[in-house]
Amino acid sequence: MGPDKYLKNYIDGALVPAVSGDYLDNVNPATGKVYSYLPDSDNRDVERAVEAAERAFPEWSGSDVRKRFRILTRIADIIEQNLDVFARAESVDSGKPYSMARSVDIPRSQANFRFFATAIIHYASESHHVAGETINFTLRQPLGVVGCISPWNLPLYLFSWKIAPALAAGNCVVAKPSELTPMTAYMLSKACIEAGLPKGVLNIVHGLGGKAGQAIVDSPKVKAISFTGGTNTGKKIAATAAPAFKKLSLELGGKNPNIIFADCNFDQMMVETLRSSFSNNGQICLCGSRIYIERPIYEKFRDEFVKRTQFLKIGDPFASVTDLGALVSKAHLDKVRSYISLAEVEGGTVLCGGTEVEMQGEYEQGFFIRPAVIEGLPISCRTNQEEIFGPVVTIAPFDTEEEAIAMANGTQYGLAATVWTREISKANRVAEKLQSGIVWINCWMERDLRTPFGGMKSSGMGREGGLEALRFFTEPKNVCIKYG
Ligand code: NAD
Repeated sequence: MGPDKYLKNYIDGALVPAVSGDYLDNVNPATGKVYSYLPDSDNRDVERAVEAAERAFPEWSGSDVRKRFRILTRIADIIEQNLDVFARAESVDSGKPYSMARSVDIPRSQANFRFFATAIIHYASESHHVAGETINFTLRQPLGVVGCISPWNLPLYLFSWKIAPALAAGNCVVAKPSELTPMTAYMLSKACIEAGLPKGVLNIVHGLGGKAGQAIVDSPKVKAISFTGGTNTGKKIAATAAPAFKKLSLELGGKNPNIIFADCNFDQMMVETLRSSFSNNGQICLCGSRIYIERPIYEKFRDEFVKRTQFLKIGDPFASVTDLGALVSKAHLDKVRSYISLAEVEGGTVLCGGTEVEMQGEYEQGFFIRPAVIEGLPISCRTNQEEIFGPVVTIAPFDTEEEAIAMANGTQYGLAATVWTREISKANRVAEKLQSGIVWINCWMERDLRTPFGGMKSSGMGREGGLEALRFFTEPKNVCIKYG
């Protein structure tokens, strides 16, 4: 079940190298060194995967849902039994603290399989009755071969979040994890083999987005694409898939606002705001990166928040005291640093962080940076408009509810927002006006698997989660029967 040095694709039930025989380097972000290799797949590998999925589809889609329930539950069991092995691999592959991988990423990955295994046996569709005349019922059928493409920030968590509902609904899948974090997806292949998933039902192709990923989107036999990643990649995928009328679910970038009113529970807000700003080094699409604070508590907030940010421990992902590990790659570290320089050019004051951490020994070449808090920037500047996706937040005061809402809504994004207040009517008013797919009131990252998940505006299209995911992965057919 464990990680290997040379990863393989999972096609037609077997672990195989890329047709080209080529491999890409896989880097451990904490050491900055190559530690394994993944197949550099291209359209030939994707074609094989799609053909295997097509062959598997009639039997899998026609199978009793209890069979799908049993197999998906077995996959969940295997992940759960190997929690530690998966968590260690996820931490090495992504640079995130082992404690986070063990308490968040891997438990959620097994929960995704378990949730959709159960959901499919309770799934029902509607009927519409015209008394004495007709009865309509909605037949929901799987789409066929579908593509699932996921990013690096929550590797197995987001990969399984797509694959599990697609399989539960009776589809066969060609999936691609991020080339930056392929390891746990590879280990999932082994779990699927052990669980007895019939060959071809799930195929995992590793490689670069522009090559292997694009080949999945291009394939005329792939009926739908469920994608999570950057907004620009989403645009490219939409441009390719729309003329072929493929069904699309796009979960894209964010620039999430966190609105803090003076009447909030200050201590609770402070603890959660630290988490919402810097969990996983700010590399969660739901992290709040623009913090708006009502003026009467602005200075109190700023001083306390900066102090607590400076206390965060950055370093060895396997040390129990570590709060933040390494950023995922050198390129990402450079991107984050470039935004900190930009913030200064734009007139911002870096109150803390933004500098690289000097590490010793095996972590000397790792991608570590101190979390940054910046003030003094207008909403219109690039630092406040563009997604950084790192441990960088800006803070600014506001005077009125209207002003806070206008600033919160003032970007192209609309993924998640957080509101802190003890006044329920104010919370409701603000939630109603926020252009955001998710609004958390007095909490952050409470993610109930049953709820619709997704963004507005440039943060995406469609919704995942619960019944929304099962609806996405099925075609509704209206069958109308006339009374005799
Ligand atoms: P990315 O868009 O670079 O890559 C995402 C995936 O798409 C990878 O597997 C990549 O190989 C693949 N890909 C790249 N080009 C492709 C193409 N032309 N065709 C098909 N596939 C292609 O994103 P990333 O850097 O891996 O992830 C970070 C981004 O993901 C951030 O913008 C973040 O906000 C977003 N994200 C969004 C959510 C959400 O639910 N809305 C969740 C997590 C991350």
